[in-house]
Amino acid sequence: MALAYAGYAQRSAAWLEGYARAGGAVHCRSGCFHCCNLPIQVSLAEALLTAAALSTAQMQSMRRRAARVIQNAKSASDWNEYFQTHRAKVGYCPLLDVESGACTAYEVRPARCRDTFSALSSKFCEAGGMERLTRAERVAYNREVKENPATDGVSHYIAPLEELGEPIWEAASDAMRSAWGLEIWGDFWVLTTLTQDAAFMAAVRSGAAAQATRRAKALGLWHLEIVRIEE
Ligand code: SF4
Repeated sequence: MALAYAGYAQRSAAWLEGYARAGGAVHCRSGCFHCCNLPIQVSLAEALLTAAALSTAQMQSMRRRAARVIQNAKSASDWNEYFQTHRAKVGYCPLLDVESGACTAYEVRPARCRDTFSALSSKFCEAGGMERLTRAERVAYNREVKENPATDGVSHYIAPLEELGEPIWEAASDAMRSAWGLEIWGDFWVLTTLTQDAAFMAAVRSGAAAQATRRAKALGLWHLEIVRIEE
């Protein structure tokens, strides 16, 4: 995964150089952490890399937040409610230092945290930011997004920088298939927490999907939409 991350860093830097030369703007700044309360999808391969670098205290925070993710998934009536509650109530990533706005695990942050960039003001990234727009502001936003060639025409995130992250997902998929014969994808905080359970990881390493599922259920860290085991 480290190689895949390095490859992405090179590709994205080259793209950003050309983008800046053409007058394109990135609105992400050091200390801005509006996107750190979004639900983050990762592979178990990435979660393992992150987990290996975390302190005991960081892992304890991760565990507490993982339980809240599952609780939210169980109580939400649909994806939209899950998403909104995740941002507003489950809260920020346990790896965020809210005082400084810094990621305390920057070197081992997952792909999703690396490929998310805003082409418009970061006010649009805030939880509830889009919902607070007036009708006229929403019309202006839609127009700006459509006119900005760096977006997909629907949201303000920079689409090519997300697309350049595809090889990371492919590398994770290949690594999991070749090591375990299965793939596990899901919520960042839940999967990172699961990596710390010896019985869960033993089941994964032996390619036993049903056993891994049972263990995650026994730990209270299972929900169909949150942990996906693909055989
Ligand atoms: S890992 Fe770092 S960048 Fe990603 S959500 Fe957490 S604090 Fe933010």
